[in-house]
Amino acid sequence: MAQRIILVTGGSGLVGKGIEAYSKQNGNTNDKWIFLKSSEGDLRSKAETKAIFEKYRPTHVIHLAAKVGGLFSNMKSKVEFFRENIDINDNVLACCKEFNIVKCVSCLSTCIFPDKTTYPIDETMVHDGPPHPSNEGYAYAKRMIDVLNRAYNEEYGCKFTSVIPTNIYGPHDNYHLADSHVIPGLIHKTYLAMKNNQDLTIMGSGKPLRQFIYSLDLAKLFVWVLDNYEELNPIILSVGEEDEISIGDVAKLITEAMGFKGKLIFDTSKADGQFKKTASNKKLKSLYPGLTFTPIQEAIKSSSQWFIDNYDVARK
Ligand code: NDP
Repeated sequence: MAQRIILVTGGSGLVGKGIEAYSKQNGNTNDKWIFLKSSEGDLRSKAETKAIFEKYRPTHVIHLAAKVGGLFSNMKSKVEFFRENIDINDNVLACCKEFNIVKCVSCLSTCIFPDKTTYPIDETMVHDGPPHPSNEGYAYAKRMIDVLNRAYNEEYGCKFTSVIPTNIYGPHDNYHLADSHVIPGLIHKTYLAMKNNQDLTIMGSGKPLRQFIYSLDLAKLFVWVLDNYEELNPIILSVGEEDEISIGDVAKLITEAMGFKGKLIFDTSKADGQFKKTASNKKLKSLYPGLTFTPIQEAIKSSSQWFIDNYDVARK
């Protein structure tokens, strides 16, 4: 088999680092992997994106690079979330076509689904109604990847597809206190509460339910999609509906994993966000029978330990 040159945009982020670790251990030795970081070229620029494709001449692309952020930055900068993601996605997919890429797998997110919906959410519902107003810039830009995948396929025969992960966590996450996702934010807060001998305050009631996927499990699934998933339509990459867990229970797992002995205080004056966003992984399970996930206790333990061991260099 000819050597595959697999270019991973956003290769320095949470998901990219997971794929890098997984491919090193389990990858096909005939594949050459390239993990891009933004200092190698700004994908918002057509010229810089093209220069990257000219330099590496990839045969396959995993497209992860995106402007991502928490609730408040999404609410504050809808124009930037829309434009930057539209530009990145347009440039990357245009180059995938121009350079005759064999296959491109892009990354959507469960937070782009319609706000008013029925549960569980499945892959057919992406365009069924407006997303939550708080992140509409990001959500519409992401939805356009699916639109473009179909258009490139119909018009030029390109083999483009996309995946839809639920909440991701793991080593190399963004542990910023105000602008991170739930798990890394709680790990950082627990770390500080232990250091300062304080109780741990959690925003909201702790009751909302979420599905979390460990970045190394997701990495395995990305490689599986690249090798085996033949559809153009997106596929949800998630743990099962039965694995949905409350924010309060996640906080308990984190404090147990880190040995925190103080009190957990739920600040119910703060917003809870959507109560649940349950996604179905039925399609994934039907195509990948026997799939297993790392138990959340174990994965949270590794993610907290990674933060402690890498405190000086972690994004925070
Ligand atoms: P990170 O924030 O950890 O990483 C983002 C990556 O994108 C980094 O490698 C960054 O490069 C790169 N990047 C950002 N802007 C540019 C740019 N203008 N030019 C070139 N590269 C750029 O994100 P994640 O790993 O968490 O996310 C990866 C994908 O997964 C995204 O598409 C995201 O939407 C999606 N996703 C994430 C979820 C989550 O819970 N984290 C949930 C569902 C989907 P650098 O760091 O070098 O600047």
